[in-house]
Amino acid sequence: MYFDNDECKRYARNFALPEIGVRGQRKLKEAWVLVIGAGGLGSTAVMYLAAAGVGVITIVDYDYVEESNFNRQVIHTQVGVNKAKSAEYFVNNLNPHVSVLGVDEKVTPQNILGHIDGFNFIVDCTSGFDSKFLINDACVLYKKPYCHGGATGTQGEIMTYVPGSPCLRCLMREIPFDAPSNEEVGILGPVSGMIGCMQAMEAIKYITGAGELLTGRLVKYDALETRFQTIRFGRDKDCPACGDKPSIKLSIDRYRPKK
Ligand SMILES: [Zn+2]
Repeated sequence: MYFDNDECKRYARNFALPEIGVRGQRKLKEAWVLVIGAGGLGSTAVMYLAAAGVGVITIVDYDYVEESNFNRQVIHTQVGVNKAKSAEYFVNNLNPHVSVLGVDEKVTPQNILGHIDGFNFIVDCTSGFDSKFLINDACVLYKKPYCHGGATGTQGEIMTYVPGSPCLRCLMREIPFDAPSNEEVGILGPVSGMIGCMQAMEAIKYITGAGELLTGRLVKYDALETRFQTIRFGRDKDCPACGDKPSIKLSIDRYRPKK
């Protein structure tokens, strides 16, 4: 049988859903998801992806756990441990049916294509705009579906890209120079948790085909007002990443995809 006894019990509530069922669960088990960043967004995204039964989860993060992470990065328990390795440890304890790997590495323009190769879906749980644009550009260039998420202070945002849909650079061309960091303005745990949870849902929706993805839609979340705002946007033909004449280049020329 495709699922063993433990899995049948573990995923019983997923099987019961008409939108998922045994068919959807098989797709989840066969899926490879890459989570870049195991901070506030990544903690929650990884937790729910593993609980849902995604077969292969790889987490990439070069950062190490500090005390100031504990208000939101709920999968980490020990200071000084690499966050990707800490996430791997968490997933192994949560769901033994997941093949998980934590990679202690910084994603760069030189290595990103190697990182995303082979994965069905990428979840961007990084915190800086430079890495968010890098992930966007790599996913557009390499035709990889991914989910963008961000959380600062008491507000968050999320959108999903699939090949052919508008991308992050259709919304904003360059890094906003006044983008605040979480060190400066703070961040509440449930805010990043909410967005990370929604990112896991986007991955599940993409893999199983259930529901409607957040493509061409940016959802903004205001936690204090409990308000969601949806901004609809189309593909910009002049977009430097996904437009008709893209001008953004990574080291794709030097990169050879794995067979
Ligand atoms: Zn674009």
